[in-house]
Amino acid sequence: MTKGLFKTAQKIIPGGVNSPVRSFRAVGCEPIFIDRGKGSRIFDVNGRAYIDLVSSWGPLILGHAQPKVLAAVKSALDKGVSFGACTPLEIELAELIISAFPSIEKVRLVNSGTEAVMSAIRLARGYTGRDKIIKFAGCYHGHVDSLLVKAGSGLATFGSPNSLGIPRELAKETIVLPFNDAAAVEKALTKYKGKIAALIIEPIPGNMGVVLPQPGYLQKLRKLTKQYDVVLIFDEVISGFRAAFGGAQEVFGIEADLTCLGKIIGGGFPVGAFGGKREIMNCLAPLGGVYQAGTLSGNPIAVTAGIATLKILKAKNIYRQLEEKGNKLAEGLLSTARAKKVKITINRCGSLLTLFFTDRPVIDFPSAKTSNLEKFKIFFQVMLKQGVYLPPSQFEAWFLATAHTPADIEKIILAAGKGLGKIS
Ligand SMILES: *Cc1c(COP(=O)(O)O)cnc(C)c1O
Repeated sequence: MTKGLFKTAQKIIPGGVNSPVRSFRAVGCEPIFIDRGKGSRIFDVNGRAYIDLVSSWGPLILGHAQPKVLAAVKSALDKGVSFGACTPLEIELAELIISAFPSIEKVRLVNSGTEAVMSAIRLARGYTGRDKIIKFAGCYHGHVDSLLVKAGSGLATFGSPNSLGIPRELAKETIVLPFNDAAAVEKALTKYKGKIAALIIEPIPGNMGVVLPQPGYLQKLRKLTKQYDVVLIFDEVISGFRAAFGGAQEVFGIEADLTCLGKIIGGGFPVGAFGGKREIMNCLAPLGGVYQAGTLSGNPIAVTAGIATLKILKAKNIYRQLEEKGNKLAEGLLSTARAKKVKITINRCGSLLTLFFTDRPVIDFPSAKTSNLEKFKIFFQVMLKQGVYLPPSQFEAWFLATAHTPADIEKIILAAGKGLGKIS
């Protein structure tokens, strides 16, 4: 199917992949190799088309090879690919980000979500002079040492939520709490009073599958972190410019102290950003003593793709349209599941959704009771056969793009009918 590509890749790249979930290990088949993408579709090396619900894991909210983004990148290329010096493009992207997030007064660009989070954690520690951080089980914040503890995404997918190679001394400084449990947070803040630098959270988690914050939960965290003088970090690498132009902070009307961004802001190129209150951001070098740097940070090609993407999102206000698509897909899946007598739950925020094989509500890290990995495996394989490319893990979000047409949504629902039929 892949012309032996996977075999070759496995010989020279660990697991054949440059990011673990791509290996399809959790879904019991071989990965497809992609040749190109256009709109809502990707095409494998054999020319087979798939409706893509991965969207490069979130960045491609406008779909593949969006003409305006491509044109902007092509013309940027002609001017040279990197300078390691200031460009006006960096100001433009920073202004777009600041226009979307009232909580961000200053922002710095980096090369990935991981870098954004790693830097934000260091900054919060430097600013407060404290070491401990609070995170939540099932939240994934990139492969940052301190945060690879009870983490979601690939770690959840492969059933080993803690990574080897993390110094115990460092892991000890990370306090892991259950999501959607404000009382646990209050308890930890009291117990470690004066020792906690930051509380980091995916306000709309997408890396244990989509899980929604219960009403009032995030507001309560905002209140508690203020009260205990702890830096509140919203990791909006997925939700930023996805849940709304201004991310989860716009949706819930909350302002974080620091915000981490990535994915969409690079338009498919490697870009991350972290920003927030001026007083905190001013602790960064060269103004302050918290060091952070990057040879390719603010890269003109990557930043151009980000600017082109954000400009379209800002001008067109596509979020209502994405909400309608998400709703249509979720309703279709639910009624199909009812018809096939398969119990499912769909967690959704706009264009971000996950189907769980349970009728129990999933409001924190999915347990054996709320996830059924065997069923997911079968479902995934049937969907792939029918030309629908889902994230190859129960613990990841499906990402709809503006490029998905009503006909695409119908095809996905039809395919899901077959997938669910195999399970019932
Ligand atoms: C993807 C993701 C990251 C890491 O971003 P990378 O660009 O993969 O390093 C961090 N936090 C969240 C919430 C993410 O979804």
